[in-house]
Amino acid sequence: MVAEAHDAQLLGAYVLDTLDPDERRDVDTHLADCEICRADVVELEAVKDVLEDIPPEALLLHGPPDADLVLQRTIRQVREEVREETAGAARRRWMPAVAAAAVLLAGAVGGGVALGRGTAPDQVAQVPPPSPAPTATASPLPANTRTGSTVNASNGVRMNAQVVPAAGWVRVNATVAGVPAGENCRLIVVGSGGEREIASGWIVSPAGETGGTNLAGSASVAIDKVVAVEVQNTAGKTFVTLPI
Ligand SMILES: [Zn+2]
Repeated sequence: MVAEAHDAQLLGAYVLDTLDPDERRDVDTHLADCEICRADVVELEAVKDVLEDIPPEALLLHGPPDADLVLQRTIRQVREEVREETAGAARRRWMPAVAAAAVLLAGAVGGGVALGRGTAPDQVAQVPPPSPAPTATASPLPANTRTGSTVNASNGVRMNAQVVPAAGWVRVNATVAGVPAGENCRLIVVGSGGEREIASGWIVSPAGETGGTNLAGSASVAIDKVVAVEVQNTAGKTFVTLPI
């Protein structure tokens, strides 16, 4: 290197420690007198350190969706070229990629890049889960909510039910077990005036027969008129009645 020449590519090879001893000595001589190139070397060392230090899979951007892919691709390219460089081939081809990576890194940092260590090479670093947002305490059920459970001793059909008042009507949540699989059933809310409102309908599955079927429905019967919840099939056969 001529004493006055600033050779960025030579500096790159210098930083990568791929110069032969004579070249290296020339660069050292130049650096001793050139503040500009010393600054360049510092920057190149920093870029090299960063690139060597970051597993591509640990780069996570909060910026544009594809920016991380671009950055990772660039870093991968730089690394491959650095490897080639180390092997003595393609000595001068790495600089544009490093420059691009440096620009990208700067942009990424500005855009909020998160650097971390992946736990496995093929894993993308995960953002730690956000601490759970404060959740409002579930509002308690209205005071006049009705609950009950019963077993029909004659057929073994079991039902738990909750009847929640709304404005002149009710929501009904129930679990029914023991009705033979295949039965086409109705969940019926019975009112004090003899009215019968279908709150839900279902066909019993084998799992529902043994483990129970969860049902949610509603009926236009006021809570103070509700006297029972009942399960019948479409033929009118009653499987269980829960006075409530
Ligand atoms: Zn210089």
